[in-house]
Amino acid sequence: FGSSRFSTATEPSSRHGQPPRVPNLIGGAFIDSKSSSFIDVTNPATQEVVSQVPLTTNEEFKAAVHAAKKAFPSWRNTPVTTRQRIMFKLQQLIRRDMDKLAMNITTEQGKTLKDAQGDVFRGLEVVEHSCGMATLQMGEYVSNVSSGIDTYSVREPLGVCAGICPFNFPAMIPLWMFPVAVTCGNTFVLKPSEKDPGASIMLAELALEAGLPDGVLNIVHGTSDIVNAICDDDDIRAVSFVGSNTAGMHIYSRASAKGKRVQSNMGAKNHAIVLADASVDATLNALVAAGFGAAGQRCMALSTVVFVGGSKSWEDKLLEQAQSLKVDCGTKPGADLGPVISKQAKERICNLIQSGVSDGARLVLDGRNIVVPGYEHGNFIGPTILADVKPEMECYKEEIFGPVLLCMQAHSFEEALDIVNKNKYGNGASIFTTSGAAARKFQSEIEAGQVGINVPIPVPLPFFSFTGSKASFTGDLNFYGKAGVNFYTQIKTVTQQWKDLPSGSGVSLAMPTSQ
Ligand code: NAD
Repeated sequence: FGSSRFSTATEPSSRHGQPPRVPNLIGGAFIDSKSSSFIDVTNPATQEVVSQVPLTTNEEFKAAVHAAKKAFPSWRNTPVTTRQRIMFKLQQLIRRDMDKLAMNITTEQGKTLKDAQGDVFRGLEVVEHSCGMATLQMGEYVSNVSSGIDTYSVREPLGVCAGICPFNFPAMIPLWMFPVAVTCGNTFVLKPSEKDPGASIMLAELALEAGLPDGVLNIVHGTSDIVNAICDDDDIRAVSFVGSNTAGMHIYSRASAKGKRVQSNMGAKNHAIVLADASVDATLNALVAAGFGAAGQRCMALSTVVFVGGSKSWEDKLLEQAQSLKVDCGTKPGADLGPVISKQAKERICNLIQSGVSDGARLVLDGRNIVVPGYEHGNFIGPTILADVKPEMECYKEEIFGPVLLCMQAHSFEEALDIVNKNKYGNGASIFTTSGAAARKFQSEIEAGQVGINVPIPVPLPFFSFTGSKASFTGDLNFYGKAGVNFYTQIKTVTQQWKDLPSGSGVSLAMPTSQ
């Protein structure tokens, strides 16, 4: 079984003309599921069936958790330096296979090859960060808290942890999860998105090649049944989730009712406030890149712009730039944006655009009827701009998750802040201005967890954490950074006494106090 098996479209099928079936990874072995139910993984640009993903049986799921549980005692006692060295090797292997990974992502998810490389690279940075786990996991020590007594705390791994992933970053999001978890000494069960599971399998192959022992990382495929099994399983201690609010809130309540830790990153509606003094070219470039890049299927995509003092002067230039973008199959050189993930996603996005029109928004640019030559069956939507959008419109209230930029207007900076803060989501928000005073006010008053100042997609690098807030996150310890290490570890506090006790001091039953 070689890593090329899931390089998909370019590879011949191994099942007599049938698409290959994506295996589970259980106890170090890639095993075909015995399930009778499989879902097609389709190339969103062509509708070709790339592979089939199993709805893993409960027995197979239990075997994966068992393998993780069995691997835990020796893995947690493996020196942290050894665990780090596996991450050093893994980052090297990911760099080696960057092109293969990117091709798999473009084939299954649709984003452009360059964007797919970015997907891998942003995950790779979490692997690099995990290489410093010994320092990140350091405990605390106070000597002589009482005479001859010292107290120290250590951060210990939890045991078996699980991760449930969305479709939009098939490499980055699995890499937000398992490298941090396993380098802390946990073992892991990963449930990739059923829409694009290939990159997870390739990354797992690389992790095994890097020396990760059998059972430390396991992969099970499926949809809600397997997710519910993860939430309910008594041997799983923590669940990391990234995806929609519907799934995230369900998983948060079901898994935490079973006493598990949960970190749940969910949907978004990220706003930019553009002040009249903003630098025009830089702002337009930022809005177009962050609004339409990855066909708007980024949780940190900029989906709404609030122009202070009116949008009219910006609209023509925005239109011109958006029209110049090339919509094409992600493998085509020069493609700026590829298709959206599925026919259903396209239909949903088109319906939300139509609802905007029906509610009175102005359709400045309509990408719904685009046809990409050679890819007539692809789920393409061209850049779309809706202006005069109001907070009560459906297209504003719902996360669109497509290449649609909503333009709103505010008379003052305060009104713009008020619009953004009333939105239920709080993943990210940006301001474009040349005024330091306005930027400082924005930073302090905006109710979003990730703030950009003249930066459109302020996704923090892994030494910070991914800090969405309000309806975009639930749980209390965010992904990666210090919070990520804290999520995957629990504190043990030790009080030790090494002194010769005076003889004849007797027994005291009073509460001990510091002396
Ligand atoms: P999704 O919620 O449909 O799927 C995510 C995962 O949950 C998948 O593995 C899926 O199998 C599982 N799932 C789906 N419905 C379920 C249910 N009812 N019960 C149990 N499990 C279920 O999300 P998606 O469409 O793959 O991803 C897009 C969403 O993810 C968007 O809302 C986007 O904003 C969000 N997202 C958020 C972040 C972030 O960091 N905040 C990052 C990426 C994506």
